[in-house]
Amino acid sequence: MITAKNIHKYFETPSGTLHALKDVSLTVKPAEVVVVIGPSGSGKSTFLRCLNRLEYADAGSIVIDGVNILDPKCAINAVRAEVGMVFQSFNLFPHITVLENITMAQISVRKTRKAEADKISMELLEKVGLSQKAAAYPDQLSGGQQQRVAIARSLAMSPKVLLFDEPTSALDPEMVGEVLDVMQDLAKEGMTMVVVTHEMGFAREVADRVVFMDDGQIQEEGKPEHFFTN
Ligand code: ADP
Ligand code: ADP
Repeated sequence: MITAKNIHKYFETPSGTLHALKDVSLTVKPAEVVVVIGPSGSGKSTFLRCLNRLEYADAGSIVIDGVNILDPKCAINAVRAEVGMVFQSFNLFPHITVLENITMAQISVRKTRKAEADKISMELLEKVGLSQKAAAYPDQLSGGQQQRVAIARSLAMSPKVLLFDEPTSALDPEMVGEVLDVMQDLAKEGMTMVVVTHEMGFAREVADRVVFMDDGQIQEEGKPEHFFTN
């Protein structure tokens, strides 16, 4: 589903060029859940952002579901529709309702008719356990609820792959579980996922494979048992 080969990413900084990704290669099979762990600044977020072209990799190749996303002819909207991303900060639009947050891209990007988009969105809200919040505004929801809406919004585009960048790091501890539960349900349903997280319980129980990054490189990868038994 994802084949990333020999990815390099450089950032120009006041103190010189930073080599943020050094020859990173990763293959993710359909329905596989890969958890990326590693210290702060090791390149996890940059790698994830390269996979949906929030960052443009400087070298290497990234093919997602047969589409070479680094091809300049590859439309960015097409990439973003195929590769959903859930961020640490939920980034919901504050001035529109929960339901409208989920229908918006369906209507504007996918040209889905409003009635149909509403129906799909209500089903997605049901899936994340928030159908009773459809008419609420984001600031009326807890952080955990907002993140579940953000996940529903990503799912509304029927992505082939979902990327999660520290999806629970901004949440109060008591809300982490409800978001991880939704992610675990998605994994069970066969969603292909790449998850950057510090939640080792999630990695141990849900990941098919764990990737350890340090210093811009994948240092080690293997089954969760490999990381958590010794
Ligand atoms: P992680 O997600 O593992 O914490 P990041 O991918 O966020 O690591 O960052 C990797 C390195 O790249 C860090 O040194 C970070 O400061 C640097 N970096 C990330 N984004 C930028 C940017 N837009 N400009 C300059 N440096 C960046
Ligand atoms: P996260 O850990 O969720 O990736 P960060 O705070 O590391 O959040 O990064 C947030 C934004 O700041 C990203 O767009 C990233 O590219 C940018 N960024 C990160 N490190 C640097 C840096 N050293 N210089 C400039 N921009 C950076």
